[in-house]
Amino acid sequence: MALKNKYLIDLLETVKKRNQGEPEFIQAVTEVIETLEPVIEKRPDLVEAGVLDRLVEPERQIVFRVPWVDDNGKVQVNRGFRVQFNSAIGPYKGGIRLHPSVYIGIIKFLGFEQVFKNSLTTLPMGGGKGGSDFDPKGKSDGEVMRFCQSFMTELCKHIGADTDVPAGDIGTGAREIGYMFGQYKRLRNEFTGVLTGKGLTYGGSLARTEATGYGLCYFTDEMLKANGKSFQGKTVVISGSGNVAIYATEKATALGAKVVALSDSNGYIYDPDGIDLACVKQLKEVERKRIKEYVATHPNATYTEGCKGIWTIKCDIALPCATQNEIDGESAEILVKNGCWCVSEGANMPSTPEAINTYLANGILYGPAKAANAGGVATSGLEMSQNSERLSWTFEEVDAKLHGIMVSIFKACESAAKEYGMEGNYMAGANIAGFLKVAEAMKAQGCV
Ligand code: NDP
Repeated sequence: MALKNKYLIDLLETVKKRNQGEPEFIQAVTEVIETLEPVIEKRPDLVEAGVLDRLVEPERQIVFRVPWVDDNGKVQVNRGFRVQFNSAIGPYKGGIRLHPSVYIGIIKFLGFEQVFKNSLTTLPMGGGKGGSDFDPKGKSDGEVMRFCQSFMTELCKHIGADTDVPAGDIGTGAREIGYMFGQYKRLRNEFTGVLTGKGLTYGGSLARTEATGYGLCYFTDEMLKANGKSFQGKTVVISGSGNVAIYATEKATALGAKVVALSDSNGYIYDPDGIDLACVKQLKEVERKRIKEYVATHPNATYTEGCKGIWTIKCDIALPCATQNEIDGESAEILVKNGCWCVSEGANMPSTPEAINTYLANGILYGPAKAANAGGVATSGLEMSQNSERLSWTFEEVDAKLHGIMVSIFKACESAAKEYGMEGNYMAGANIAGFLKVAEAMKAQGCV
């Protein structure tokens, strides 16, 4: 989409100059700025208040050394990050990613997206994100613990239940959150809801583990219904086999679909009989093994090396749930050619700009990540509420609230897109609806 508004063109140029070497961050900002053009035309007051100029610059970026000792007694050093992006509508909130690909540009793109996503949830949460280039894969529990303790030793100076509340993301599951929470408690001598995604015995919320995957399906189901369709009897391809992919598979199956493929960073499995989720949970959640082990016990299933090929499998609905930019323009073309008519995003920014253009040009129903995967952070918000009340809600209560939030997010995207003349473009709707709430709060709070 080519921008016409001079102010936005100049702003994007500044962002590009100021953030050189951070292509993922520039990609995320470009997408939002392009879809906000009609809002900016209508709201000169927001330009005058410098809302967008401030919104594209994180409030604070913390980069730190994370030294730890491996099982051989050797000192290892990783780099830790926390980007506190925007606190206009609440304390910073966003996950911690542990993956070798992590650098400041990845954390900034995720933090920027988080601002809009958190706004869409209707809950009072600002946006932030953190992480490290540490790779938990292949490390012993002791090594993971020592890393997490070292990471939290620095991070604890910058976070707090009313300041910044991190959570899980790629590579950060219940084990890592547990070690980080323990260290925070030891250092600060306080038991507060400083992290979400905690274990159920120490302040975690029921349904948080399932929330992002379930929420993705609730959002998608609402989008399908609004367009006279449903999951019933449809063939679904899901990438990844981590937290989001597993629970998206569970809910999509419960809603009547057949999920035929899953992947990890080495390759993908295709099971024409439908994925046996109990087996995947055992492999991934308990044994921490690779997805290719699945075929050893499922003779009708096949395993193929490499991630990209998963998008050549014929399906009605594709749910990318692994990582950023995993569907490029070429894969999107193949999906369309094979009859796929819906793409809804569990991962953050899994589609390149070329892929998104292909969806929009071919009338694909497209659920953008900011809206479609907001169920995880929404349920983290519900965990914070339970921690503040010192109460625990039932699974059914949390799940019902999650469902209600995902329906309301879809409606907000649908109506914002319509109001600004882009009916059916839920990406534009999500960006606009998420932006407006934050923008009003920033304007009201003055130039801070
Ligand atoms: P997990 O670590 O549980 O799982 C990630 C999955 O994606 C694994 O199967 C992993 O394979 C695969 N993967 C990771 N990186 C790559 C890569 N570079 N190339 C190919 N495959 C890759 O993470 P989550 O399920 O929690 O997160 C998945 C996505 O969902 C991320 O984009 C995350 O930001 C997003 N998300 C997560 C939320 C949550 O609540 N957890 C909330 C909202 C969004 P392997 O095991 O081989 O690394």
